[in-house]
Formats: sequence, C-alpha cells, structure tokens
Amino acid sequence: MFWESLLNARAHRLQPSGIQEMMVYASRPGAISFAAGQPSEDLYPIEEITHGFEEAMKDTSVLAYPYTEGDSMLRQWISNWMVEEGLASSVPGSERILLTTGSQEGLNIISQLFLKDGDVVVVENPSYPEAMLTFGKEGVRFVTVSMDEEGPVVSELEAALAKEKVAFFYTIPTFQNPSGHSTSLARKKEILSLLKKYNVVLVEDEPYRQLWFDEKPAKTYFSLAKEEPVLYLGSFSKIIAPGLRCGWMVLPPIIMEKAVQLRLTFELGVSALLQRMIFYVVSRRNFEAHLSHLRHEYRERRDAMAEAISKHLAPLGFSFPTPKGGFFFWGSRDGLNGTDFARFAAKNFGVALIPGEIFFALPQKGQNFVRFSFAKVDREETNKGMERLAKAFREFC
Ligand code: PMP
Repeated sequence: MFWESLLNARAHRLQPSGIQEMMVYASRPGAISFAAGQPSEDLYPIEEITHGFEEAMKDTSVLAYPYTEGDSMLRQWISNWMVEEGLASSVPGSERILLTTGSQEGLNIISQLFLKDGDVVVVENPSYPEAMLTFGKEGVRFVTVSMDEEGPVVSELEAALAKEKVAFFYTIPTFQNPSGHSTSLARKKEILSLLKKYNVVLVEDEPYRQLWFDEKPAKTYFSLAKEEPVLYLGSFSKIIAPGLRCGWMVLPPIIMEKAVQLRLTFELGVSALLQRMIFYVVSRRNFEAHLSHLRHEYRERRDAMAEAISKHLAPLGFSFPTPKGGFFFWGSRDGLNGTDFARFAAKNFGVALIPGEIFFALPQKGQNFVRFSFAKVDREETNKGMERLAKAFREFC
C-alpha cells in the first residue's frame, strides 16, 4: 500500500502484457507454441553476426559513449536502402533517421512526444497490444476502425476524424499483427487524403514488410505521402534477430531534434558496437540472399500451417484466411470463447496460442478470434499441434 500510494498516474495506468501469460505455457516441456511472434532461431544469420562483431571491434570507438541518434554508417545505409527497397520515394537523409532499440521504443518515443492525458488515438481493430499499452499509459482514449479486405474502413476513419481531435492514427499496413492483412495501394491513397483533410498524423509501423511470400507489398504510406505527416517505423527484429534490439524511425527535422532530446533523458544512446555490427551484416552482399531465404522458409511454414488448419480445424468450423506474408494466421469460429479455449488447450493439450481478445482496444469484442504464429514451428510440429488443438476443441465444447 505504501509504495502504491506513491506511484504517479502513469504508473497506475500501466497494464500487464496479455501475451506473457501464454508465453509461460509455451515454455513448458513438450509444449508446441503457436504463440510467439518471434523469428525462428535457426534463421538467425549467425555467421554474419559473428563476422559483423569482429569487423565492428576493429574500430574501438564503438566502445565509447554512442551518439544518441545512432551509428552514422548504419543510418546512412538505412537512408539509401529505404529507396532501394521502395520504402521511400526519395532518400530521406540520415539526419532524419533515429536508431532505436526496436519499434517498441519508437512507439514509446512517439507516445511521449505527442500524447497527453485525455487525447484520442485511432487504432485498427484489431491491433498490436503492446502498442496500445504504450499509448494507453499516457491516458489516451482509443477509437477503433474496422478492417476489411483492403485495409482500414475509410468511412469509419472519416467518422472518427470528423467527430473529434485525434492525436494520430496508428497503423500496421503490411502483414498486420495480428490479422496478417495488408492495406491496398488504393486504400492507402484514400486514407492519406483523409489525413490531409483533417491534418492528422499517421504512424506507420512495419516490422513484417520484408517477409512477403508471393509479391512485394504495396508502397508505404511514407513513400506516397506528399505533404501528409507520416512517421515511419522499421525494425531489424524479424529480419535479423529480435534479441539484438535494433530498429529505426524516420522523423521530420523538428521532431527528430525533440526525439533525440527525449531519448537522452532515459537512454544516452544505443550500443554503438551493436549498431556497427548490424551495419556490417546488412551491407554485406549476401543480405538480399538472406532475406530471400527467410521468405522461402517462412513461406514453407505458412503453407504447412494452411494445410494443417484445413485438415484439422476447418472441419470443426474454424475459418482462417491464408496470410501472404509475416508470421500470423488470424481466424475465428462461431460461438468460440477464444480466451477460455486458449487457456484450456495450453493447460491440457500443451499447445500455446494467443486469444484474440487482447488485440482489441475496446473490451468484449472479437472474443471468438485466435492468433497462430507459424514462425517457429516446422511442418511436423504444426501438424501435431493442430491435431492436438482439434482434440482440445472437441473436449472443450
Ligand atoms: N510493432 C508490431 C506490429 C510488432 O508486431 C512488434 C513485435 N512483435 C513490434 C512493433 C516491436 O518490434 P521491435 O522488436 O522492433 O521492438
């Protein structure tokens, strides 16, 4: 009681992550985990990382206090790569790139710079829970926008923007977490013109973009925007390794200045050694081959999961569209309580999955949804896990 009474309003608003509960089940011996939105360990570029550290250590200045903005060589590389990869229509310039400890830090920086108690943030329905926790701790109110095949529903977004002052619209336009959906080019253009009309900032979070299986995703909002304010977040977590903790954000100059000043108050800078190592990994000639390899491997796992779902779960009334990239299958079954089912399956059948409930900003919606990640499971585990889930479901009902 004593310590609690000392906490400030932000501390009181902090909430536990709903994903953590399932991760506990996922780590039990013999468990099959469809829970983790994490890359597969066998796909980390270990040799390149080791080589990168060796190269980085040749310049011992990487052991000094780092620049708060991040390693200049890596920022320059990102700036050029964004054009080559089609993420930007022209070179954004390394001075606009802030290296982060991953998109999560970027989201926090954005929250602390832009949000205040009582503000409204528009999010997709469903959306990434840790982003909502990050915005939520600033005391915001969420307004949600449904998703259809093409992306966020424009009429709902317009209704939200017309009704009240919105701090920003947070979107994961490519292979969304959790739905796996991507926003079409036409929808992006419509949304940008709406944002221009209402003068609202768009926060574009794209950690899964490089993991496409069939065709390259539609252009980014960032590259399509002319005068519309877009803040772009990229990450190395899914394409190198999440434990390295490195990503980036592209910011307008004045916001860059403020972001660096803010970052300095809680983090003098991100390890220069780590960032220089990443520079050596990404600037090697085989980085593109590494990305193709990831796409190939994850495509195989996606296919295995699609087959296992249609064999074991579809006959029981589950419906899961097949994602075209990223890590996730997102689906539902009429009448299912996804939260109870996820707990039951994890406890009694050793299969971890994530209940849909935690992906909805406003409570009580989408209870019959569940999310499966195929990133860390091979064909055999996937089939076995889905077989167990089918058994779990029969007993659960
Ligand atoms: N945004 C989304 C949509 C994510 O799914 C994740 C990771 N699960 C993050 C951000 C955080 O990524 P990072 O490791 O770059 O902090």
